[in-house]
Amino acid sequence: MALIVQKYGGTSVGSTERIKNVARRVAKWKAQGHDVVVVVSAMSGETNRLIALAKDIQEYPDPRELDVVVSTGEQVTIGLLAMALKAIGLDARSYCGWQVKMTTDSAHTKARIQSIDDGAMRADLAEGRVVIVAGFQGVDEQGNITTLGRGGSDTSAVALAAALKADECQIYTDVDGVYTTDPRVVPEARRLKTITFEEMIEMASLGSKVLQIRSVEFAGKYKVRLRVLSSFEDEGEGTLITFEEDESMEKAVVAGIAFDRNEARINVKGVPDRPGIAYQILGPIADANIEVDMIIQNVGENGTTDFSFTVPRGEYQKTLDILREVQTHIGAAKLEGDDKVAKVSIVGVGMRSHCGVASTMFRTLAEEGINIQLITTSEIKVSVLIDEKYLELAVRVLHKAFGLDQAATV
Ligand code: ADP
Ligand code: ASP
Ligand code: MG
Repeated sequence: MALIVQKYGGTSVGSTERIKNVARRVAKWKAQGHDVVVVVSAMSGETNRLIALAKDIQEYPDPRELDVVVSTGEQVTIGLLAMALKAIGLDARSYCGWQVKMTTDSAHTKARIQSIDDGAMRADLAEGRVVIVAGFQGVDEQGNITTLGRGGSDTSAVALAAALKADECQIYTDVDGVYTTDPRVVPEARRLKTITFEEMIEMASLGSKVLQIRSVEFAGKYKVRLRVLSSFEDEGEGTLITFEEDESMEKAVVAGIAFDRNEARINVKGVPDRPGIAYQILGPIADANIEVDMIIQNVGENGTTDFSFTVPRGEYQKTLDILREVQTHIGAAKLEGDDKVAKVSIVGVGMRSHCGVASTMFRTLAEEGINIQLITTSEIKVSVLIDEKYLELAVRVLHKAFGLDQAATV
């Protein structure tokens, strides 16, 4: 008998029929003698609908009140799933984040989980009940409702699995595992049987939304056995996130390709080339809580240099406004940018021991006439910034070039 934490995402609970389907799946695990804790998201589209309501009232919704509004989506699904389980003869009890209680810091809309009280859950499990917990939400020390950022139910599930020392955390979604890239963009993408924790961290942070990055971080920190599976298929082992590279693992240099449309590029041209200039440009942006991603400073010529970086697309105008003030102050010649750019990244632990991976990437893009605007690298990834209109083409040709297509590996 094992203790399993299962998480079902929005599409998997998108209708009452699907919620009944989840109940049947949970019942199967119970019938095998396992203890089950279920985390659910809001029904698909619901969180977006709630955010739109809030924005209709306030252009920049008050973060505390926004959390009060958006957390309601998950409250509906936990209640419905508990009913669906009772309807098929199982005992179940639902809990909101504040009831569990899932304590977070007070950073509304992007709160971090600090502690989980497992008392009530353990008592229910001992009574043979299925425990159902609302994903995405928590409560801070003052009793305010908080949420964990988009996709946060993944993190709720992994954190619960860590707190309960569960045998496995299963993330059920609308694809049957982690693929070499988003299968909705590249139909030839392949499901990976395993992916290393390090690769999964990179994939998630570089835009693959199949797992929220914080859930992967949690899994790493507490060594939670984490698996991604389909909620629509009965068979299938999904993808296991592994912590060690073992012999049976697929030995590709590039494990996967991630991409992110949430990018905007800013260029500050003709900046005086002197110590402290990066700080003068990026300091005010950091002070405004804007996260800078890729950064490039050119080698100076004739006492001036160019400075380029990317910010989340939603922060583009705000960043330009801040820089207009900085521009006069530092004496930069020109300020320009583009918010129709995207980042494509190749990820793989195999890159450590192979050279020429980046050049294959650059050659492949060049052959398609795709211009690279910025490049960043780390030990196990190479990212390039390109015009958004070439994003899908870039992902497809890179997928093929690195032998990730189904056909290439059969
Ligand atoms: P859920 O609502 O279940 O949390 P998400 O929409 O958040 O589901 O995540 C699943 C989606 O992630 C898939 O439908 C797929 O389009 C997308 N995705 C992006 N990259 C990948 C990848 N490498 N492997 C699998 N799915 C991916
Ligand atoms: N419902 C939340 C969202 O749409 C959390 C989640 O689905 O993980 O972002
Ligand atoms: Mg998700």
